[in-house]
Formats: sequence, C-alpha cells, structure tokens
Amino acid sequence: MTPGKYDAPINRFKHPFVQLVKNNHLMANQLEIRNLNVTIGDKPILKDFSLSIPKGEVHALMGPNGTGKSTLAKVIAGHEDYTVQSGEVLVDGVNIIGMEPDEIARSGVFLAFQYPLEIPGVSIANFIRAALQSRMAEGETFNAPAYYRSLYEKMDLLQIDRKFTARSVNEGFSGGEKKRCEILQMAMLDPKYCIMDETDSGLDIDALKIVANGVNVMRSPDRAFLVITHYQRLLDYIVPDKVHVMWDGRIVQSGNKELALELESKGYNWVKEELATS
Ligand code: ADP
Ligand code: MG
Repeated sequence: MTPGKYDAPINRFKHPFVQLVKNNHLMANQLEIRNLNVTIGDKPILKDFSLSIPKGEVHALMGPNGTGKSTLAKVIAGHEDYTVQSGEVLVDGVNIIGMEPDEIARSGVFLAFQYPLEIPGVSIANFIRAALQSRMAEGETFNAPAYYRSLYEKMDLLQIDRKFTARSVNEGFSGGEKKRCEILQMAMLDPKYCIMDETDSGLDIDALKIVANGVNVMRSPDRAFLVITHYQRLLDYIVPDKVHVMWDGRIVQSGNKELALELESKGYNWVKEELATS
C-alpha cells in the first residue's frame, strides 16, 4: 500500500508513549503470573509458570493430580509453606509475592479453598463480618444495618436461605453447603480476582452447580476468575473464556472451551503424548 494522508495519525498510535499507556492500562486490569518458580523443600513444583487473566474473563486451569494446581492457588494467596524462587504475581501491576495473606486479600484476591476449615461456634454472619472488618482502614466504623442489607441482598442473588447465616462456619456441612458458604464469602468480599480450587473428586452435581451459579452470577467486566479443576464436568456449567492445561508445573496447552472437551474424551495422556512428539 502506498503511503496516504491517513498514515501519520494512525502511526501516532504506535508512539512509545501511547504503547506505554496502553500497557499500563492492561497491567492495571489483570492478574499476571510471570515466570513463577516455586519449591517445597528442595522439590521444584512450579516451573517457569506464566499466565495472564484480564478482568472480565474466566480462565479454567486443568491438569492431572500432583501437577501443581493447588500450589499455584496457595502461592497466590500467600501461603507460607511454599518458597518462591523467582518470578512475580502482579495484581493490577503490583507484585504481591512476599506480602502477607491479609494484604493480598486487601489487594482484591480471593481464594476459595478446596477443603474449607470448620469453625465451630462462629456463625457465618459473624465470620464474614469479621473478614470485612479486618480489611477496613483505621478509624472506619462498621455499619451493621448496611452489612445485613448487603448480606441478604447477596443471599437472595445466590438463592441462599436466610437461616443459613446463623449456622457455624462449615460445621457439619455437606459438600454443597461448604461451597455455598465459600461463594457467599466471595460475594460479600467482592474481590477483583477469584481463584477457585475445586476438589478433584467428591463434589456432587449439586455442589458443582452451586459453585457454577455463584461464578456466573458474579461474572462481571470488573472481575476475573481462575477456576481450577481436574475434571471437565464443572465446565459444563461455567463456560470459560480460556482453558489451560497444566503439566509438571507449567502450562503446556491453551485454548478455548473445546480444549476441555477434547481433554475429557482423550484424557491427560493425550497431552503427554503430544508433548513427547513436540
Ligand atoms: P494438584 O493440585 O495439581 O494436584 P499440588 O499443587 O497439590 O497439585 O501438588 C503438587 C506437588 O507438590 C505434588 O507432588 C505434591 O505431592 C507436592 N506437595 C504439595 N503440597 C505439599 C506440601 N505441603 N508438602 C510437600 N509436598 C507437597
Ligand atoms: Mg489440587
């Protein structure tokens, strides 16, 4: 194409300053994991792991057991058992590696646990209230009526019975009830980045639907999700924007939702064989 009079203004968008602003804008709106190397003891678990999830998207992370999925989730949440050898986890451009778990939570990250703890004697309503209070700035006062309004609003949205909040956190809960409790906490904390580590087995269809409904209700252009799952089943209810396959501490394949179906029919050995021939 010969240069015309419109070239100059178009090229202006390639100006380094414009690129910088664009990049900053991107960084300010995503969870970015960069070349993360993590060990437990001497054992490398995450090996140069990289992944970016822009706000507004739902990414699924799949992979066989023992590949490091839960490790990734816990490292992002600031779990102390893991040693980050190198790499970064950027939340809106800010590296959270080395921060305390509560600081990470304040930065907008929420981790739904694979195996939530029971807290006998502490009601769900009080537990969520304490979580919200703990991240309030000094001098800020808690508005109880507003809290209950917001709690009931979220419960209606998630179709949770009002009686539920008087029960002790996870005590004697079924798998589905535990998930309901997690989703309600997530909705109340209103995080920007939600990481959901789903149990590889044990979740029945009802529990899967509760998780999926929660994610679908909370999907928004201002929020991103990383849904970790071993089986494709959950993705029947949550349609992800992207699917990543993890193997031996890193992502070895990425694609759209069809990749999850392909995995379901061909199994994880298919990924292994592909890797061996590539
Ligand atoms: P996934 O969630 O994909 O099944 P994990 O992240 O749980 O994988 O585990 C990855 C590897 O790290 C496994 O080999 C597991 O045995 C090991 N591992 C995980 N947590 C610990 C721990 N706290 N101590 C020792 N080894 C661990
Ligand atoms: Mg796991």
